[in-house]
Amino acid sequence: TSAVKNKPKWLRVKLPTGKKYTELRGLVNKYDLHTICTSGSCPNMGECWAEGTATFMILGNTCTRSCGFCGVKTGRPESIDWEEPEKVARSIKLMKIKHAVITSVDRDDLKDMGSIIWAETVKAVRRMSPGTTMETLIPDFQGVERNIDRIIEVAPEVVSHNMETVRRLTREVRIQAKYDRSLGVLKYLKDQGINRTKSGIMLGLGEQEEEVIETLHDLRANNVDIVTIGQYLQPSKKHLPVKQFITPDQFKKYEEIGKELGFRHVESGALVRSSYKAHKHIE
Ligand code: SF4
Ligand code: SF4
Repeated sequence: TSAVKNKPKWLRVKLPTGKKYTELRGLVNKYDLHTICTSGSCPNMGECWAEGTATFMILGNTCTRSCGFCGVKTGRPESIDWEEPEKVARSIKLMKIKHAVITSVDRDDLKDMGSIIWAETVKAVRRMSPGTTMETLIPDFQGVERNIDRIIEVAPEVVSHNMETVRRLTREVRIQAKYDRSLGVLKYLKDQGINRTKSGIMLGLGEQEEEVIETLHDLRANNVDIVTIGQYLQPSKKHLPVKQFITPDQFKKYEEIGKELGFRHVESGALVRSSYKAHKHIE
């Protein structure tokens, strides 16, 4: 299949509005706070922020990996900022975030792969905002258990790791990752007592329906509780092309299949991002 061009109407979104949104936008600008919601101009900002949810990225802005779908800069990362956990916790407190999603670039350059900063960030948020719940959207840490253990020890309410695509396309979509290693991380998290595990995939990269269903089966077979399914959109011309716009009916179908398979929550829709409606996933 070749790339498609014009966006269908269900992907057009309204600009975010609302009192809470305006208030938070003001704080973000005034204190120069870093959220993925604003840097990625996420279409769900109005909705998420009204619910008190936002996504923060740690460990810098440069990733050691170069996934074909991702808009994050690749290269030699910045050195570690040991104040970062406090800074992120302060942002979360200032913004009065009820449910924080924390994610990071991959730091394959570090011996601990960033897991120490990860754990310190969760601890700092707990200290400064004891009422705030957290989802940590973690990298695969190359499957190294002592790094994953640092996350398990601080026990965030939800721990997520995204498969991003089906088995066949993994090599093309996220070259440095492995499908089975990612599944193994999710299995390990659950086996070690994480209450809610979660994963996400993007559609429109050339996958077939049966491959999507296979991935949903694989996630359930590893006791993953929550899944998000959204439309892939190309961040720039240099990124992988969109092969297909998935229809709202098809998203609905995957949602039904996911529910039948026994996921606790399934978010499936064109504008779904992995942190969309994240506050509901602690229920
Ligand atoms: Fe932010 Fe995620 Fe919501 Fe988008 S979906 S606004 S990135 S929390
Ligand atoms: Fe982007 Fe994550 Fe891949 Fe890095 S590892 S390129 S941040 S998707």
